[in-house]
Amino acid sequence: MRVLVINCGSSSLKYQLITTENESVITKGIIERIGDGPEYTYFTKKGEKIKKPVNVNNHTEAVQAVIDNLLSRDNGFISSLNEIEAIGHRVVHGGEEFYSSVFITDRVLESIEKYAELAPLHNPANIQGIRSCREVLPGKRQVAVFDTAFHQTMPESSYIYALPYEYYEKYRIRRYGFHGTSHSYVSKKAAEFMGIDKDKFNCIVCHLGNGSSITAVKNGKSFDTSMGYTPLEGLPMGTRSGSIDPAIIFTLLQRENLTMDKINDILNRKSGLIGISGVSNDLREINEAASKGNKRAELAKEILVKSIRKYIGSYLIELGKVDAIIFTAGIGENEFAIREKCTEGLEEWGIKLDRENNNKTRAKLAFISTPDSRIKILVVPTNEELMIAMETESVLGN
Ligand code: ADP
Repeated sequence: MRVLVINCGSSSLKYQLITTENESVITKGIIERIGDGPEYTYFTKKGEKIKKPVNVNNHTEAVQAVIDNLLSRDNGFISSLNEIEAIGHRVVHGGEEFYSSVFITDRVLESIEKYAELAPLHNPANIQGIRSCREVLPGKRQVAVFDTAFHQTMPESSYIYALPYEYYEKYRIRRYGFHGTSHSYVSKKAAEFMGIDKDKFNCIVCHLGNGSSITAVKNGKSFDTSMGYTPLEGLPMGTRSGSIDPAIIFTLLQRENLTMDKINDILNRKSGLIGISGVSNDLREINEAASKGNKRAELAKEILVKSIRKYIGSYLIELGKVDAIIFTAGIGENEFAIREKCTEGLEEWGIKLDRENNNKTRAKLAFISTPDSRIKILVVPTNEELMIAMETESVLGN
């Protein structure tokens, strides 16, 4: 099936046209700063990156620009709209309602709108993308693939916070978990690679990118995860604080005389790696600063590693039997020194890294543990867009 995968942000639209049979990307691109005047779109043609001017004032015009580009004779991507068989949308929040991907009907759209309360930055943009596709491509079948869906299998003991229970009942305040498409994809890939039935596969998936989360997967299902009610909880990330003592917020409100919006901005955009290091949210730049003796850059890395180790440790205990520890996303796939620090000294636990193999493994599916490591360590490149395309095919096939 040929699927157009759409990931719509508040002022951006990322897309990929994917053929599911051979898992190939015909083209992918991005339009940024939508509504902010004339812009450029970037897209790939035979692997080459091309920059082209566009003038889009809203998401509908952005979808139209994508379609025009796909149909453009110069590019030769498709010759008619019939060649796009379906559209798969990344939708961030599916609340407690969506356990899996769904065909988008009016009722589904209403539900996604309802959960905008839980993801005010993301769901409205996702809805906008769906509506725009309906306008530009009327009658084309659309599927929603939720970031939260994979985690809906977590037991209550993983998702209920130790707050008065009434807040869960009244406002559905609970842990939802995110990056579900990635955790699901890489855990299935690893099970397949290891020749283990995915329904019997236990693993710890470390999705370490600009946003990071770790999931304990039990019998192929999400059992616990580090992100919570929002993507702010858990590990320190590029710009997010991850878990902190909530009382710090009261102190900052009082001492710095801050508004709630400002606190939100500090925790989401000024904390994490950039907050600690003062250098960057990008680990590559932090590495460079640390190598020149910048102590806070070094500290940022140490705090990140410590936090990852704490989650690995607690999920080892939660799961009991673990087949594999998996590293994925920008940091997980490329930063071999971080992977080494996260797994060092764990031989007693049956976790043995093959340093040489680890050092040369970048962004490819491979074991990085020694053959006698009881718990295998793997790098599995994530591919959320491919997963969305596959899910879209599977929903429509069913
Ligand atoms: P996002 O959460 O935005 O999708 P990514 O998964 O692309 O983020 O991860 C970005 C992080 O991965 C950055 O901290 C970056 O420094 C780190 N990284 C390290 N090496 C690479 C690499 N070769 N390519 C991309 N990102 C890398």
